[in-house]
Amino acid sequence: MKDVLQDLSPEEIAAIVEEAGERPFRASQVYTGLMQGKKLSELPVPASLRAFLLQRFEDEPVRIVRTLASSDGTRKFLFALADGNIVEGVLMKYKYGNTQCVSTQVGCRMGCKFCASTLGGLVRNLTAGEILSQVLAVNRLEGGTLKERAVTNLVLMGSGEPFDNYDNVVRFLRRVTDGRGIGISARNISLSTCGIVPNMMRFADEGIPLNLTVSLHAVTDGERARTMPVANAYKIADILDACARYFQKTGRRYIFEYSLIEGENADEAHALALAALLRGRPCHVNLIRLNEVKERTLRAAHGDTAQKFLKTLTEHGISATLRRSMGSDIGGACGQLRASYLEENDAPPMS
Ligand code: SAH
Repeated sequence: MKDVLQDLSPEEIAAIVEEAGERPFRASQVYTGLMQGKKLSELPVPASLRAFLLQRFEDEPVRIVRTLASSDGTRKFLFALADGNIVEGVLMKYKYGNTQCVSTQVGCRMGCKFCASTLGGLVRNLTAGEILSQVLAVNRLEGGTLKERAVTNLVLMGSGEPFDNYDNVVRFLRRVTDGRGIGISARNISLSTCGIVPNMMRFADEGIPLNLTVSLHAVTDGERARTMPVANAYKIADILDACARYFQKTGRRYIFEYSLIEGENADEAHALALAALLRGRPCHVNLIRLNEVKERTLRAAHGDTAQKFLKTLTEHGISATLRRSMGSDIGGACGQLRASYLEENDAPPMS
């Protein structure tokens, strides 16, 4: 694979343009074109500069190969990377804007028992530019520009564990929030981690005030380890300390994801224990009923169990919402679309 030009900052692009012997204003034409989602071969610059760039960089590092539309307005996308690997993404339409869910790795090595993305293990990390290009491609396809964005919010909740690909993810965050580019505010970005404590600590010092989200899904380390192997490495108490540090550094309250699984984590006793664990903390709990994955045996908690869980948390002073599952008719849960695509097509498509 060639390098990814979308990995680079405007300053780094300026250095490349200078190397090519072109005038400095060409650099901003290159950068703006890229941020509009253009391929290198479409950039509005002299053919000689395009040829220079194409020798070293991928023409289109991320290409949308399939789009599925749900009856609720949600769209799912399959992206082909330059090496033929496939990742997926979603665009959810809300009253306040459009939220895109992006992937940070091909596959995942965290091994959570409820998740489809980890079934084949980790294939590779995405580069910052490959993560960014998912956003640029969807913004372009949906008719967005740099001023009037079709993508207004981001969640790093596609395939992969963001803090298992730390440097690329932080570089991505700097690129996607840069006002000279697509300029999505950190406040409109949620990063979800399964709780890799050392990198949560490191992230607190990066000065990126986003919505830090932790996948908790259990109230004790022992129970958590039943569905999340990462719990064997990092304790809930240390995760809470890392969250507190993030709050201290950024002033941002943090969020816990809690997927309700029948017979596993959804009883009244779990709700009470969760309320006790989080009491007094500047946090919010996002409840969601498990999205059932066909390769997995875990089942979603019943609707009334979920309502009761929410009620108990709220009555105990914990800020919480029960989220509706969107796009379930098009394979809403993590990794489901990619898994079915790979099943239908023996090998990922090559461009
Ligand atoms: N690796 C990151 C991002 C993963 S996906 C993390 O672990 O947080 C985003 C969220 O979806 C996580 O909270 C994850 O635990 C949850 N999730 C994965 N599979 C799910 C499923 N089948 N049903 C409900 N939530 C699921």
